[in-house]
Formats: sequence, C-alpha cells, structure tokens
Amino acid sequence: MKKIIVLFSFVCSLVSADVSVAVSIIPQKSFVEAIGGDKVKVLVMVQPGDSPHTYEPKPSQMVALAHADAYFTIGVEFEKSWMDRIKAQNSSMKLFDLSKGITRIPIAEHHHEEESEHHHEDEESLDPHIWVSPINIKIIAKNIYEALIVLDVQNSDYYKQRYEHFLQSIDATDKEIREILAKTPKGAKFMVFHPSWGYFARDYNLEQLAIEAEGKNPKPQQIAHLIDEAKEEQVHAVFTSPEFSDIAAKQIAKEVGIPVLKISPLASNWSENLITLAQAIARSSE
Ligand SMILES: [Zn+2]
Repeated sequence: MKKIIVLFSFVCSLVSADVSVAVSIIPQKSFVEAIGGDKVKVLVMVQPGDSPHTYEPKPSQMVALAHADAYFTIGVEFEKSWMDRIKAQNSSMKLFDLSKGITRIPIAEHHHEEESEHHHEDEESLDPHIWVSPINIKIIAKNIYEALIVLDVQNSDYYKQRYEHFLQSIDATDKEIREILAKTPKGAKFMVFHPSWGYFARDYNLEQLAIEAEGKNPKPQQIAHLIDEAKEEQVHAVFTSPEFSDIAAKQIAKEVGIPVLKISPLASNWSENLITLAQAIARSSE
C-alpha cells in the first residue's frame, strides 16, 4: 500500500489568517495583541494625547476602516456620536462590545451643595473608564477571546493558549498591586483632575477625588474648596494625565504641599501603568 502524505495541515498553516480589528483606545490594542499575537492587526482610533471624550476620527482613519473585519467597542464617549458613521464605512465589519458583562459604577463627580438635590445616576453619570481594573480587564479579555474565535476559527487553539496566558498575567499584576498597597490604609484618598481611576479605586479600596467640575476646569472658588478638602481629607498626591490641563492640579498641590504626578489611563503598557499608580499611592500615603 502506498503511503499517502497528507499535506493538508501544512498547506493550511501557510494560509495566513490575518484578522484586522479596529478599536477605540490604545489599552484595547494592548489587550487584543496579548490574545491575538501576530494573527491580528489592530487599528486604533484615539491617538496619544487625544481624549476619548472629545475625539473625532480623521478622514484617513475612516477610510482605513474599510479594511477592518471587526470593530471592538468599549463604551467611550466618542463612540456614541460616531458609531453610526463608523458602521457606514464598512457594512461587512462585525461589531463586538468589549464591555459586555461589566457593571458600570457611578463616576466620581465633585458634589457642590447646589447640585446634590438633583443628582441622579443615569447613563451619563456612569463611569466609562472600565479598562483600569484587572477585574474588568479579565472580562474584556474573555470578550476579545470569544470575538477572535468567531472571526478566525482556524486559529482557535492559538487564541486559547494566549488568552489563558493573558489571564495569568492579569492575576499576577493584581497580586503585585495588592502587595504594593498592603500597608496603605483602606479608603486612602488620591486626587485626580479627571476621574478616570474609579474602577481601580473600587478594586483596591481607595477613593479618588475629582478636581474637574462637570468636565471643566474648576473656578477659583471651587479650587479654594478643593484645597480645603485635600487638607481635611489628608490627600497625599494629585494625579494628572496628558489629555487634560494640569493648571488647577498644580495650584492645589502647591497649596497643600503634595506632589503632582502625571499618569495616563490610556497608556499602552496597562500593567506597568497600574503598578506605577499603586506605587505612587502607596508612597504618598506612607
Ligand atoms: Zn475620561
């Protein structure tokens, strides 16, 4: 009997099943690449220094969407006004919601006496910055994995292996953060210009106080109030991010005598970034 060499599997491995995925923000790119490896190409809409609250896609980015197999949303503000136009660029592009299964918490807003009566927790006041929490990143990772095995079933084993490895690295990051914050008092407060660290604060029993007032720079009277609050509440550090003005933060920090630290919730190295934030909070509350 003649031996038949089956070349089928070899041929299959030569057919590169590149998937092209568009995402809204840089951390999503990091998560998708962690699972997708070299099988997935990622197009990011919001570029470094831009804010996902006010961002508008460039014409060249809209054109590039024609080559995307899928768009992974995460629920940032610009998606609300742009998703219909994004979908219109490419009717065969599949949509996946990476925030599926994540419960959004109310955003930390600065409460002023006159506003407290009509405070309500509608969709507008829920925190969209879901990706700064290892607990949420694990849910996002599951959604990415499930999307990739739909988009590219041939490489399911490859994605599964990388997904499992990614879950381990998320757990390792979480463990490291808990060790760093082991001596930080429960409920320790840190001040931020834009309240983008709410889920991080939730995960690690911390509290963030926002400087901005309804997305705007605080007025001098509000700054004076924040300075008093920072002193009373024993705030140890103020964090700012490159997407926003740091003038008010610097003024408050100077008056209170605490450091201003710059850290972006949109950094690509999500793990190092969260660890850096934890170290800064632990240091400042020593
Ligand atoms: Zn934001």
